[in-house]
Amino acid sequence: MCGIVAYTGKKREIVPTLLDALVRLEYRGYDSAGIAVSCPDGIEILKTSGKVKALQEKVSSDWKEKVKDAVAGIAHTRWATHGPPTEINAHPHTDEKKNFALVHNGIIDNYSAIKERLQAKGVKFSSETDTEALAHLIAECYMGDLCNAVAAALKQVTGTFGIAVISRDSPGVIVAARKGSPIVIGVGEDEAFVASDVSPLLPYTKRVIYLNDNDIAVVRPDRIDIRNMDNIPVSREVAHIGWDIKAAEKGGHEHFMIKEIFEQPEAIANALRGRMDTELGTSKLDGLNFSETDVAGISRIIIAACGTSLHAGMLGEYFFEDLANIPVEVDQAAEFRYRNPIIQKGTLALAISQSGETADTLAAVREAKLKGAIVASICNVVGSTIARETGRGVYLHAGPEIGVASTKAFTCEVAILLLMALKFGRAARLSRQSGFALISEIEKASGLVKNVIDGAQKIEKIARKYARARDFFFIGRGYLYPVALEGALKLKEISYIHAEGYHAAELKHGPIALLDENVPVVVMANDLPGKDKIIGNLQECRARKAPVIAIVTEGDKDAKKYSDDFIEIPRASDFVTPLPTVVALQLFAYYTARERGCSIDQPRNLAKSVTVE
Ligand code: GLU
Repeated sequence: MCGIVAYTGKKREIVPTLLDALVRLEYRGYDSAGIAVSCPDGIEILKTSGKVKALQEKVSSDWKEKVKDAVAGIAHTRWATHGPPTEINAHPHTDEKKNFALVHNGIIDNYSAIKERLQAKGVKFSSETDTEALAHLIAECYMGDLCNAVAAALKQVTGTFGIAVISRDSPGVIVAARKGSPIVIGVGEDEAFVASDVSPLLPYTKRVIYLNDNDIAVVRPDRIDIRNMDNIPVSREVAHIGWDIKAAEKGGHEHFMIKEIFEQPEAIANALRGRMDTELGTSKLDGLNFSETDVAGISRIIIAACGTSLHAGMLGEYFFEDLANIPVEVDQAAEFRYRNPIIQKGTLALAISQSGETADTLAAVREAKLKGAIVASICNVVGSTIARETGRGVYLHAGPEIGVASTKAFTCEVAILLLMALKFGRAARLSRQSGFALISEIEKASGLVKNVIDGAQKIEKIARKYARARDFFFIGRGYLYPVALEGALKLKEISYIHAEGYHAAELKHGPIALLDENVPVVVMANDLPGKDKIIGNLQECRARKAPVIAIVTEGDKDAKKYSDDFIEIPRASDFVTPLPTVVALQLFAYYTARERGCSIDQPRNLAKSVTVE
């Protein structure tokens, strides 16, 4: 969940470079930070609870002087799983003699057995983390070669890890390894980096090597050797990062989140670009690698995802059922994995994850594969584990999403699901004419979203009016039911207001008991089928004195009348309406959180890439 960055080389001052890189990893969410550098006289370490800024402030001029000859270093932002976010528990961790220092993402599942065994031998532990056990284990396995020691130690652990290790004996060497938690190596000229994702590397190099699970790499400034845990050399190609560094910076915006909300017209256009076939009225999704016959053989789809991607998946269910006539089941990914799902011949398991590293979704992919499903994925991060393990899928091309609360990834996921359903529909009952009609609707999506963004000021005004509420409800039906869930999720993620998303029909089965004049309800009252019913639900809320914020279609006459405030969304087909509508709710959540002075890009307790179960 947290971040790793490491450097070897003499071209840069190591400490400022690593601290700078840690700042670029802050978006992932973390609670403490630390750095260790390899100097001629041994390893020097500095750690802190709290933010990278606190770590920067801790770097005294004396310490700087002490480490000025450092030739390699490792740094970390920790998202605590084992032991509270204290200075002692912060990474890097070392063995007793400080011969080795280690940063780790993930969880060592069998750490307590290892710890007990080592403690019985007299080894002293200083932290409560699982990670420290691995540092002592490496020391125990060391026979003169760092890489062999790390491999031998990793063979004894179960769980997930992305690690970077330095040692006193081999000052310019970093050993990195991964299983279940991403590690990428940045290749430079006479320098090299190791990181948990590419964002901290962007200012320095665009040439990267993605490690596979069970790879272990020996990284030197001028040489990178990769082998598997059995010491057999493996070759991994050098990939080129297509992102510009600007894409990972705020570009004048106050927060990444608002930048990413505003980027959506472009992001959606990028996701759609070159993927619509206007001659055949279908879509071209080459990464899926499905022939028309393959598509025709798909009799059922199971969508597995978490959080915001799960809401996109719920929309996918409507798309595939309406357009392609294929039965769809949407599963919280963890639930899919643990409840022994039934996979029949012709079942497609479709995993959706922005990062492509979501632990539960990855586990669902593995389970689905094992049970013989056809697997595919929709991910944003190129080369991510889910994308690679499914082998077929569609990338969002949304650019890096830095804000912890997902925005542009959601709308791009929805756009891709729509294209997939169009493709599957054309292989089934959907006529060419209907295909054309749908393409012309999809083409409007980017402009519709732009239109909502142009009206952001009005949404800001309404958000400020309600920003002090303690509880909120979001209700919707049909295509706007998942949008209501997503609107509530956005609000709670960044403003910490308790917000519940419900199907509008479900309200009277319990939650309506909570409504009164202090509980605003955001009602998806767009002009879509079922609007008469939603107006009924809106009235039910008013009758309980709940303030109503209605989301309405431009030109609406009725829903507006019954609401305290309203937000207008341009008219669009039912398939496309969720896109501009959810953008209005993202803006609403953003401005509410800003009014409340919340830490928008790094909300408390949340991490960007959820790599623990
Ligand atoms: N499990 C380790 C710890 O709690 C690492 C957590 C992380 O991924 O940041 O220290």
